[in-house]
Amino acid sequence: MSMIKLKINDIDIQAAEGESLLEASAKAGFRIPTMCHNGELEHFTSCMICVVKEKTSGKLFPSCTARAMDGMDIITDDEEISEARKLALELLLSEHAGDCEAPCRVSCPAFMDIPLMNRLIAAGQFDEALEVVMKDIALPGVLGRICPAPCEGACKRKPIDEAVSICLLKRATADLTKKSPVFKKANPTGKRVAIIGAGPAGLSAAFYLQLKGVQAVIYDKYTKPGGALMYAIADEELDKTVLAKEIENIEKTGVEFHPGTEVDADAFKKLRKEFDAVVVATGDYSPQMDSWGLENNGRQVAVQKGSYLTNLERVFAVGNVNRSVKMAIRSAAQGKEVVTAILQLFNEEIVTGEVRKFNSTLGRLLPEEFPEYLKEGSSEKRQHPVGEKHAGFDKELAQKEAARCLHCDCRKPDSCKLRDYAGEYQASKKRFSYTQRKPLKKVIQHDLLVYEPGKCIKCGICVRLTAKQKERFGLTFIGRGFDVEIGVPFGKNLAEAFEKTAKEVVKACPTGALAGLQE
Ligand code: SF4
Ligand code: SF4
Ligand code: SF4
Repeated sequence: MSMIKLKINDIDIQAAEGESLLEASAKAGFRIPTMCHNGELEHFTSCMICVVKEKTSGKLFPSCTARAMDGMDIITDDEEISEARKLALELLLSEHAGDCEAPCRVSCPAFMDIPLMNRLIAAGQFDEALEVVMKDIALPGVLGRICPAPCEGACKRKPIDEAVSICLLKRATADLTKKSPVFKKANPTGKRVAIIGAGPAGLSAAFYLQLKGVQAVIYDKYTKPGGALMYAIADEELDKTVLAKEIENIEKTGVEFHPGTEVDADAFKKLRKEFDAVVVATGDYSPQMDSWGLENNGRQVAVQKGSYLTNLERVFAVGNVNRSVKMAIRSAAQGKEVVTAILQLFNEEIVTGEVRKFNSTLGRLLPEEFPEYLKEGSSEKRQHPVGEKHAGFDKELAQKEAARCLHCDCRKPDSCKLRDYAGEYQASKKRFSYTQRKPLKKVIQHDLLVYEPGKCIKCGICVRLTAKQKERFGLTFIGRGFDVEIGVPFGKNLAEAFEKTAKEVVKACPTGALAGLQE
């Protein structure tokens, strides 16, 4: 094999003649993003994500097809290359039809995985469903009773008939399981955080800190924990035994409580000295807090967006104390989110708080798409609990209701390359969006997979893979130009297309276009 010499990112390297620039760069240790490339398959198209630049001519070209040549001087990453990759991603996104995350989850202040909870309930797995809820909501039974459910307003089932009864389903996970899940606690970090206030924000912060191995110590002026949940909500709306039980679960993680303890300016100063961080979760802002040195506008404490850091070093403020719109679920969500920021502080990282991944959104369903979505949900009407005014679901009704959920979330949110690169290159889905999209389809003809053409980037990996594995029918490109789609030849269906390669093709598809039915 004859070798050639070239430079990649100013480093002299040798490559085999005929090798692609992508291969040569990878061997030299440079990572180039790819989507339509698959090392096992012959190449025939380029999505242009893998562009690189020839330094002398300034020309950009796809590294997957361009061959390494003697004397080349290649750059694999700079501002112009990033812009070109971003543009390529935005063109793909312009005709991409899918929600990475279901709209219910995006609208939930706690970003709870609602579709997964629903699927588990529908399968009768209530313990597992509660575990999913409690990853984001430390007080599921309480919030299942009093949350105004912004998620239901965003539910894709709503325009079809009625929204899925998400809030009552969340309540069912707490009410219909015998014991709270036991979460694996991280090793103790040796860090201690003082939390002022035992309302939903303070309790949530304490719970998730404990799970991360941080000792949470709560100071609260009232004798009973719960804050506004305990003292400002009528018993009829919220059964206080439910609240007490959930607080007990939080206590069991090892939280230290100091009830009946007023924190004044001196005590606050002391807490700042004695603890690694302080979380102000007092509920209302009080003018007496001016003496604490916290920047405020007379009604709320000022915090940095995302991190909840105040103007004081190592002091965070969450819940009603930092905003005017009062909602327990928002307070509980902030109590969970602040833990990420606190851990970043402890790990000496930049304190940003939680950063959400790129999210492709589909928007409202078109009427012709209703039947496509209903393929994944039962056609039953919304279920209502039987019994007195504030009753919840029994298991049977909960399962029936959860089965109405339409699986609006993508099946590959964690492995989709389009999503990952769109986030990395900060691509916008809106830049080239058409006003009218093609109606979305969900093709379910195979026991193992679902095909969603709206999520296909036409990379052809599935076509080449089924040909290589000698499927009887496999897949092919059908149509022309913008209308080209992946399809099964001779009018056959997906079950006939994938007689042996379903799992392999699902794994190789770089997006959620071909995904496992059970995912
Ligand atoms: S295919 Fe990728 S980008 Fe599209 S909805 Fe799924 S995860 Fe998001
Ligand atoms: S149908 Fe299910 S997944 Fe879709 S928005 Fe409603 S609850 Fe969420
Ligand atoms: S369905 Fe086939 S052509 Fe479309 S993105 Fe997946 S592998 Fe590529």
